[in-house]
Amino acid sequence: CGVFGIYGDPNAARLTYYGLHALQHRGQEAAGILVKRNHLHIHKGEGLVTEIFDADKIEALSGDAAIGHVRYSTAGGGGILNVQPFLFKTLSGEMGICHNGNLVNANVLKKELEDRGSIFNSSSDTEVLGHLIKRHHGRFIDRVCKSLQHIDGAFAFLILLDSGLYAARDRYGLRPLSIGQMPSGAYVFSSETCAFDIVGAKYIRDVKPGEVVRVRNGELKSCFYMNEYQEASDNICAMEYIYFSRPDSDIEGVNVHSARKRCGKILFEESPADADVVIGVPDSSLSAATGYAEASGIPYEMGLVKNKYVGRTFIQPTQELREMGVRMKLSAVRSIVAGKRVVMIDDSIVRGTTSRRIVSLLKEAGATEVHVRIASPAIKYPCFYGVDTSTVEELISHRMNVEELGDYIKADSLAFISEKGLKKAVRDNAECDSLCMSCFSGNYVTKLYDSYKAANKD
Ligand code: 5GP
Ligand code: SF4
Ligand code: MG
Repeated sequence: CGVFGIYGDPNAARLTYYGLHALQHRGQEAAGILVKRNHLHIHKGEGLVTEIFDADKIEALSGDAAIGHVRYSTAGGGGILNVQPFLFKTLSGEMGICHNGNLVNANVLKKELEDRGSIFNSSSDTEVLGHLIKRHHGRFIDRVCKSLQHIDGAFAFLILLDSGLYAARDRYGLRPLSIGQMPSGAYVFSSETCAFDIVGAKYIRDVKPGEVVRVRNGELKSCFYMNEYQEASDNICAMEYIYFSRPDSDIEGVNVHSARKRCGKILFEESPADADVVIGVPDSSLSAATGYAEASGIPYEMGLVKNKYVGRTFIQPTQELREMGVRMKLSAVRSIVAGKRVVMIDDSIVRGTTSRRIVSLLKEAGATEVHVRIASPAIKYPCFYGVDTSTVEELISHRMNVEELGDYIKADSLAFISEKGLKKAVRDNAECDSLCMSCFSGNYVTKLYDSYKAANKD
């Protein structure tokens, strides 16, 4: 998912619309914008940002602060009731919330809250924060911090009130969240910095792990939500660099395209291939493919073309839709690959749908050999932090080793970048521990509650 928010600008809804449009790659199932104009007003729906909003709808959302969300459903599944932002109306005031990430103890908390009388509108884990905040008393910032102490997992939250905008990031730093500023002085928040460039904001800094930032009366204030037993760490999702984020975004000071290009270079150093051309799978692998080509001296070519009008195939909710999507989406360029030994770079293998299909496409187009190189380590364990690979059975690298998987996708050879290689590419330090690598290593950054048991049931 992606979140965007702005406080103190008369064009809040329009800028949020542009911001969400720039974050569209993070989720294409649903979107919503909530604005503050005396009261909180909302419009949301299922589909792409441009399908849900038009000029009239944006006009109707005039106000001077807004939060917005694009959804890629993981926890709680799809359906209109789970579309964010959520709007809570209580006697003490109104509150809007949106969230990127996944809470690992949501079910435990939900049960406790329901036992004490809370009624949930949705199956989304995001609603839990709203109910927790309602149960605490005192200054709003204290209620937010107390509530966040109970929540475990991955989150970037934006909370809009009549009296301010709050932005919070989980204490592990799993999900990204950055702060920017408009020329007018208004503060903006976004999952990715690419949205700042679109709305004309200047990047200020990232929200820190465990930090809660409040904007009110043009002023930014910050505190940390943890209690004396909770610590912050620095474990942003490695997949943000590999797959999720747009290449023009910077995460924690590292440009995504550049990190991917270094992955390609290291992938070549670790697993060279004798070949005539290097090709990437559009769009998320092109940076890594140029890195591999540059390091190997093998020419980089456009061997695959993508139909721009098909969305992200992985983000489709069912396997049938995903396979259909891959078929409609990619075509081989015959004159580039015919008679050639091809190195095909992709960013990741999850279920194996994409790689298997592309190897056969390339061979049908006349490639004599196809060597597959993957710019992430093998994904062997489910992610509980907001990426939809939630069961081990779905993960092909959990069931097959590299040789078996190479045979399954019918590649002439297959190799993945190593975990150390990935760390070196992103952090320039092969031994660093400042990334989440849980889905590769199985060493989870957080405690696991019912979610792990549920996903690993046999
Ligand atoms: P597969 O086809 O093996 O199931 O998934 C891998 C392909 O899906 C890659 O081409 C990758 O670019 C794309 N992809 C789309 N969404 C995701 C995601 O959320 N995580 C990962 N790792 N890959 C994704
Ligand atoms: Fe990202 Fe993998 Fe960690 Fe999930 S488990 S947050 S996909 S690195
Ligand atoms: Mg892809």
